[in-house]
Amino acid sequence: MPVPEAVVLAFAGILGAMLGSFLNVCVYRLPRNESVVAPRSRCPGCGMPIAWYDNVPVLSYLALRGRCRHCAARISVQYPLVELAIGLVWAGAVAWFGLGFAALRAAVLATLAVGIALTDARHYTIPDEFSLGGLAAGLALSFAPGGLGPIDAAVGAGAGFALLWVVKAAGDWALARGLIRGEELDQVLEEGERPSTLGLGDLKMMAMVGSFVGWRGVLLTAFLGSLAGVAVFLPLLLVKRRAPVPFGVFLAFGAVVSMVAGDWLFAWYRSFLVSRVP
Ligand SMILES: [Zn+2]
Repeated sequence: MPVPEAVVLAFAGILGAMLGSFLNVCVYRLPRNESVVAPRSRCPGCGMPIAWYDNVPVLSYLALRGRCRHCAARISVQYPLVELAIGLVWAGAVAWFGLGFAALRAAVLATLAVGIALTDARHYTIPDEFSLGGLAAGLALSFAPGGLGPIDAAVGAGAGFALLWVVKAAGDWALARGLIRGEELDQVLEEGERPSTLGLGDLKMMAMVGSFVGWRGVLLTAFLGSLAGVAVFLPLLLVKRRAPVPFGVFLAFGAVVSMVAGDWLFAWYRSFLVSRVP
């Protein structure tokens, strides 16, 4: 008897919400170089361990009205939101691609993208567990049927790393020759630090993305990420003047769009080019 689709989607959503709960732990602990396995979660307010029934994704937050059971300290709304988002990502991937490896690939990449966006936005760092761990996952999944093969995944990973390496090298060259100026930069130079345009984390992240979307997807990701970065940060810079750009956030956005709509965008672009030929 076939399992009704609603049941499959519900299971995917519940699995996703549980992974989202774990992702919250990763996002909190990895930038602090803490283990994501032990110790078990405690309330930052009173230090009491959080019981399993107070740790059910989304539902516990609602039942506790966003406060610790013991000391009533506020629980960040980020926790249930991430759990809900990742739950929707996993259910959405199955709804979009059908139950199979394509859905698994997309859901894993989107989950990593959310983790990277959160750590990069908050701490300006991309943990190796997300980038290199994700690269290992992308390469492993390339052996599964119905997607990029292992060679395309490896080429994509190399292309992702190489593309950002070139961007970084060019940017750092321009920085070193004083071609890029700004208050923020003067401050960094005064403190005796060596300024850099891109972090190594961005390079490793794009290797991971490439292992999921291939070299064409890498180009699309970088294009969309730059576009989104400029659209968001140009107005912000005009108001605030100083703001380091967490580029990983925008690359994460570009990677998910490339994964879900890459083929469609390339087909549209091709027909656009063809329509211009007289
Ligand atoms: Zn507490």
